Amino acid sequence: MTEKIELGDIVRLKKKHPCGGYEWEVIRLGTDFRLQCTTCQRQVWLERREVIRRTKKIIKKQLDENSNQ
Ligand SMILES: [Zn+2]
Repeated sequence: MTEKIELGDIVRLKKKHPCGGYEWEVIRLGTDFRLQCTTCQRQVWLERREVIRRTKKIIKKQLDENSNQ
């Protein structure tokens, strides 16, 4: 998975969280990414390369219709 991950995107990981969720929202980018589980709201730090390695699918953030320019 080499597709670019952007702030606000939802990443679906290969391995599920103990809460049963697979999808995480990217709330901070950098050498380490901060991800928030969309199921239980728990937040974790994960190295960028780990995020990329573990991501199965990127679900692009939904853009607000009114923000399109
Ligand atoms: Zn969770």
